[in-house]
Amino acid sequence: MPAQDIASSALASAPAGAFLTIDLDALVANYLAIRELAKGSEVAGVVKARAYGLGLAPVARALWGAGCRTFCVATAGEGATLRGLLPDATIYILSGLIAGAADAYEAHGLRPCLSSLAEVEEWRALAKRRGRPLSAGLQFETGLNRLGIAGREAERLISTPEALSGVDVTLVMSHLGCADEADHPLNRHQLERFRAIRDAFPGVTASLANSAGVHLGAEYHFDLVRPGIALYGGNPFTGRANPCRPVVGLQGRILDVREVASGETVGYGAAFEAKGPSRIAVIAMGYGDGFFRALGSDRQRSHVGGRVHIAGHYAPIAGRISMDLISIDVTELSEGAVRRGDLAELIGPHVTLDEVATRAGTIGYEVLTNLGDRYKRIYTGAGCSTTES
Ligand SMILES: *Cc1c(COP(=O)(O)O)cnc(C)c1O
Repeated sequence: MPAQDIASSALASAPAGAFLTIDLDALVANYLAIRELAKGSEVAGVVKARAYGLGLAPVARALWGAGCRTFCVATAGEGATLRGLLPDATIYILSGLIAGAADAYEAHGLRPCLSSLAEVEEWRALAKRRGRPLSAGLQFETGLNRLGIAGREAERLISTPEALSGVDVTLVMSHLGCADEADHPLNRHQLERFRAIRDAFPGVTASLANSAGVHLGAEYHFDLVRPGIALYGGNPFTGRANPCRPVVGLQGRILDVREVASGETVGYGAAFEAKGPSRIAVIAMGYGDGFFRALGSDRQRSHVGGRVHIAGHYAPIAGRISMDLISIDVTELSEGAVRRGDLAELIGPHVTLDEVATRAGTIGYEVLTNLGDRYKRIYTGAGCSTTES
């Protein structure tokens, strides 16, 4: 919902400092675009970290409604929550099996992506106790050197099938380290290593690509792709146009507009100084809402910081961002253009998620996963029009 719609709706009087809007139709459109791109492969939805900060329940339900049946989360706790929402989904736990916790995974029908022989052995031991095979994925190391069965352990698993007895292997997967850089030599290296591993598990679903990996071409798709960021409108690439539809909008409420005399400073550390008679508007959100403090400006460090869009113009952030407040310089706008109660766009069509990330010195993934719980959340589209505080 754009700012002008919020302003004209019943929400205009909601006691909220900021509105986070999540367009579930755009989310579904991104999901379907990936399905088109990876034709012939299943498209799993990666919904870890509360669906990258957008909210697990509405996102998972919208993806399920679009036909998504396989989901990936990072932890067993996330998996248990998701199981409560989607009783029939296939759920993989990307971070593998926490030592001693196999029962909790099994209790919720979660499939760990087993990433070491120790994890395989714990899963087998539980299967033995239960007296039946238990489903799991196998995560292999191919070049990221993070998680994954590697080297001699991998050879042993592949050469001795008994080492997997009791495990119903439903997925063989690995993860790319440099998919956001299409020309990076690690991509092909990982592809070749993964092919060799996949060949040792004929008939088992194979998966290598994240969002950026989907764009590397059909040979990276295998049987299942695992996009996350591309569903949520973030740019999967570095230094290339963003192919995804934006999903998230963020609008902050103006609490007050004040005159500041020439030479006065604004905010903590006196980091902004008025060059002449100035008008400063104050927005009712800050880093306590998960908005990056690095977006503040600081004259001493010649740090420019971020900007917002309000009343048809851009306005720079004036000085440091506080926990609950952001000051912006609206001196360039005509008097009366910005008033108490108005909304400023912090993420949206004029200030993109990619811009916010770049100016904060980070990536869209981190901007999204930081989205706070203080925002008034508004979900639109996908047969859903709900608000969740
Ligand atoms: C987070 C994650 C993904 C999704 O990555 P995106 O870059 O957001 O598409 C896929 N696979 C694994 C193993 C992950 O950890």
